[in-house]
Amino acid sequence: MTMTNLPTSRDRNSEVAPSSQPSIEANSVLDKYAQSLHMLQDLFEQAPAAIAILRGPNYVIEMANPMICQLWGRTKDQVLGKPLFEALSEAKHQGFEELLAGVLATGIPFVGNELPATLLHAGQIQTVYFNFVYNPMRNEAGIVTGVIIIATDATQQIAARELIERDKEKQLVRQQVEAERKRLLELFAQAPAGIAVLRGPEHVVELVNPAYLQLVGERPETIGKPVRQAFPELADQGYYELLDEVYKSGEPFVGNERLIQLDLHNDGKLSDLFVNFTYQPLWNVNSVQVEGIFVQAVEVTEIVQARQKVEQLAAELEAVIEKLHQANQELSQADQRKDEFVAVVTHDLRTPLTSIKGYAQLLKRHLLKPVQNGDEAAWQLFLTKYLRSTEAILQQCERMEKLITLLLEFSQVQAGNLDLNYKLAANLVEMVKTAVEDQNITREDYTFVLEVTEAEVVTSFDIIRIEQVLNNLISNAIKYSPPATTVTVGIESKPVQSEVVVWVRDQGYGISPTAQARLFERFYRERTAQTESVTGLGLGLYISQEIVNEHGGRIWVESQPGEGSTFYFTLPLKS
Ligand code: ADP
Repeated sequence: MTMTNLPTSRDRNSEVAPSSQPSIEANSVLDKYAQSLHMLQDLFEQAPAAIAILRGPNYVIEMANPMICQLWGRTKDQVLGKPLFEALSEAKHQGFEELLAGVLATGIPFVGNELPATLLHAGQIQTVYFNFVYNPMRNEAGIVTGVIIIATDATQQIAARELIERDKEKQLVRQQVEAERKRLLELFAQAPAGIAVLRGPEHVVELVNPAYLQLVGERPETIGKPVRQAFPELADQGYYELLDEVYKSGEPFVGNERLIQLDLHNDGKLSDLFVNFTYQPLWNVNSVQVEGIFVQAVEVTEIVQARQKVEQLAAELEAVIEKLHQANQELSQADQRKDEFVAVVTHDLRTPLTSIKGYAQLLKRHLLKPVQNGDEAAWQLFLTKYLRSTEAILQQCERMEKLITLLLEFSQVQAGNLDLNYKLAANLVEMVKTAVEDQNITREDYTFVLEVTEAEVVTSFDIIRIEQVLNNLISNAIKYSPPATTVTVGIESKPVQSEVVVWVRDQGYGISPTAQARLFERFYRERTAQTESVTGLGLGLYISQEIVNEHGGRIWVESQPGEGSTFYFTLPLKS
């Protein structure tokens, strides 16, 4: 008898009622039996577990309580009396056949924990999880003839656990995200570069790190303010426009060693800083729209300044090297000029000496010649020759004297002891006039003109030295001009400036601008085709300048090559 054939409580009496009249004792046994059957059936029907009894090698479902029917997704009628894998054809090949066969063959129960089964529930394939026991059922002979399944639905339990696990996972992810966020914030806070996040088209300052605050200096709170408000001093420095451009174009901008002027102490004074920076556009989630700008900046002022300093030093060094080079060149030129000077001096001293010697020998010869008494003509000739030789000797002596005087003056100037012998209240006009008159007498090959408007210009100066300056300028004008040209000498007092100007103008070869700048250097001489044959030591102007300077005056030249030159010198007007 199968459990499905158990009598219900309603027909209990009719089913257990025998056709013959049993004894009272037998009746009471039957009653008890019926009661326990009834209890079992109730238990079976209401059990909080899913129970089914399978019989035979095909696992015919002999009994199934509502709960297992629910689990299987079938009604009782759909399953009772049918082989298990016919009633639940979708449960085939999920491993249950083997498990049941094992129990049937061995009689060893099988306990399954949270095993999944894919079943058809209300026309839908669903995976349900079971905890179950396959228990062998034996007949009186102890042979296993069936299997009793006792199962509970673990689906919800698993779902609940999954939920918890998912929750745990979520929490873990949340913790990880939080840790990551913290790490990022720390990085952000400790980053040596200044970082700021600007939002929207107005570049509202959203986030700044300490390095950024240090970079931009003391200022009122910047967070929440548009850049133009937070950094008003940047107007006209091009930074707003750069930000606008990055926001508009979505193209990042990299600035290298750019000058930025910031009000570092919030006192209206701008400081120059050099920065390397990037403006990186921040895109929205879909990467279609720029939402802000990520600013990263590092101050490199010291590096730039150090480099500028190095560059400046290098330039200075180059200038020094160039100067040294020039000085070297000048030195070698001066050396060359000195050699020439020595050669000229030697020549100029030797020439008159040779002449003097020649005339002296001639003189001696004349003197040794016996003069016949009374030979008047011979005596006269002797006297003439004697006179000529003496004059020539004197002339050469003068030449030598001039040269020696020049050398002496040079050495005085060099030694810095030009002792001036001031004459108080001397008339400079008088001196100029005399000098021109002297030239008019001795140099008929030139025309001399005097430009004088005043009868006298009286001041205090060393007459001999100033005369020497004037004569040097006049003799240069003659030396460096072709014959038949005019030399003009002029003088004019300038009371307002408290000075008197003297000039000597010629119509000579003129002087190149380069030479004009160097004429007053010692030994300097300009070499041109016209002046090639003119001899000189290059000392006259040098000494003249020293004399004029010593008097407190100035000396200079104005000249056009090919048109002539005018030399000027001034002396202070002293009463
Ligand atoms: P020196 O005449 O003995 O050479 P100076 O010192 O008097 O020496 O003159 C220096 C140089 O200046 C001359 O060699 C000549 O080249 C130039 N110089 C001076 N005066 C004139 C002038 N009036 N015209 C043109 N060149 C002149």
